Amino acid sequence: MFETLSERLSGVFDKLGKQGALSDEDVKTALREVRVALLEADVSLPVARDFVAAVQEKATGQAVTRSVTPGQQVVKIVHDELVHVLAGDGDTAGQLKIDNPPAPILMVGLQGSGKTTTTAKLAKRLKEKSGKRVLMASLDVNRPAAMEQLAVLGVQVGVDTLPIVKGQTPVEIARRAKQQATMGGYDVYMLDTAGRLSIDEALMAEVEAVRDVTSPRETMLVVDGLTGQDAVHTAENFDARIGISGVVLTRMDGDGRGGAALSMRAVTGKPIKFVGLGEKLDALEEFHPERVAGRILG
Ligand code: GDP
Repeated sequence: MFETLSERLSGVFDKLGKQGALSDEDVKTALREVRVALLEADVSLPVARDFVAAVQEKATGQAVTRSVTPGQQVVKIVHDELVHVLAGDGDTAGQLKIDNPPAPILMVGLQGSGKTTTTAKLAKRLKEKSGKRVLMASLDVNRPAAMEQLAVLGVQVGVDTLPIVKGQTPVEIARRAKQQATMGGYDVYMLDTAGRLSIDEALMAEVEAVRDVTSPRETMLVVDGLTGQDAVHTAENFDARIGISGVVLTRMDGDGRGGAALSMRAVTGKPIKFVGLGEKLDALEEFHPERVAGRILG
């Protein structure tokens, strides 16, 4: 998922590594190239700028230029800065607040982002890895096909879905899900909200109403990782209006440049908790900043 960025950076560091000693000017030149590589990967401009400034501050001066392995020192500083930009205050990958059963998880996002598939993937994971009893409910009242899709996925992953009752509003379905989850002894109930092609007032008002009747423990935004900075803008908008607790970046198996992953935390303050890596229902991975930084630097 970060192939191009990874190649570009290793090119920069190879050049540095060949030099025995580094001048401040060498470091500056290398960091200019790092900045270009980040921008080409569709990292947002302020994030790329702050990143390079932070590395520059740590890398220039005596500690690095006098070191016996100055190139490696710079790589280490870049690595640490990558972890910082990906993780913010800490690594929260895969951690969901689902104590006090039944814990509601609200799934939000634009249509086509992979929200329904991700709901099923996450339900499967909670069941298999954490031994949780999960109930899923689709609130997409305008698209019966979406409700059917969740029911089909539920059968595939062996997770119950709330029976479909025609004519109910999303809030009514959410209430019914809560009631069924409580009476049925479920640990978690997941609400797959309706997606729209763009963020609009009606969508936000509907999600807000559902949020207010269920008080979700987690509100997970599902966004398409291939959309780069648009994914980050979508997250900013959803967070401002609904308040999100984490992000799932889908299609990270595609040829996206990775900019969304690198900018998300710095721009929105919200952690990426999982990444989707394919259409299969087990193609969901925890997003660990340390590992991702390692992957980027090869
Ligand atoms: P929704 O409209 O947001 O609910 O989107 P869906 O869950 O219906 O997904 C739309 C399409 O994207 C489906 O064909 C999914 O199989 C596919 N999809 C979802 N997540 C991923 C992913 O991580 N990688 C790939 N390659 N495809 C995905």
